[in-house]
Amino acid sequence: MKILVPVKRVIDYNVKVRVKPDGSGVDTANVKMSMNPFDEIAVEEAVRLREKGAAAEIVAVSCGAAACQETLRTALALGADRAILVESDADLQPLAVAKLLAAVVAREQPQLVILGKQAIDDDSNQVGQMLAALLDWPQATFASKVEVSGGTLVVKREVDGGLETVEMALPAVVTADLRLNEPRYATLPNIMKAKKKPLDTLKPDALGVDVTPRTVTLSVAEPPKRKGGGLVADVKELVAKLRNEAKVLS
Ligand code: AMP
Repeated sequence: MKILVPVKRVIDYNVKVRVKPDGSGVDTANVKMSMNPFDEIAVEEAVRLREKGAAAEIVAVSCGAAACQETLRTALALGADRAILVESDADLQPLAVAKLLAAVVAREQPQLVILGKQAIDDDSNQVGQMLAALLDWPQATFASKVEVSGGTLVVKREVDGGLETVEMALPAVVTADLRLNEPRYATLPNIMKAKKKPLDTLKPDALGVDVTPRTVTLSVAEPPKRKGGGLVADVKELVAKLRNEAKVLS
């Protein structure tokens, strides 16, 4: 079985994001970028499936600027066999990414696509679902356990108030939730080996995909500053504050 793992380059989760002074977006100049954390989980799951003998090849794919090669090299260091960069400097919105991935799926013919459940930059949580719809494949989103046996996939999904277990035929789309696994670190020898693994570059035009944005961002603003908390001296003061100052949120 071949597994395709889409990985997105995003601002590192440790970075305090700054909004550009003109409110047109987020400042990405001189900011540390990394692989979207949920995509690391997706890569790890693909590698574990290969280690269990359920998968033969893992192909990582990223859509975006040339710098996404770095993210792909990380995926290769974590265990992907080869990588594809769909290179574009355009603002790639989720539908455009889903269309590009659908075109890569048509070329590569994987039996399973494992994505992150969402990218931590735009928090869209759309690409996996849109991709499944475009391919007309079954999907299991928010996966916390994935098992493959023969042509069948059994996935435990994180849903409100518990876990749901679904079974579906392959090919299918899975999106990884936080508890699916704990990704390994790339070792130095594997980082070195990754430099020699194949990385192909394609352009959206070659895939016949129009990536023109469908929505326009009108403005981006920082969330309101949180007011500092305070300490109360005793229970009496706490009760008084709850009575007189606490607001009912509805
Ligand atoms: P989103 O729907 O944007 O929150 O992203 C969900 C998942 O889609 C991510 O975790 C990635 O696996 C994948 N994805 C989103 N954007 C890209 C991209 N530009 N290149 C590759 N994969 C992407």
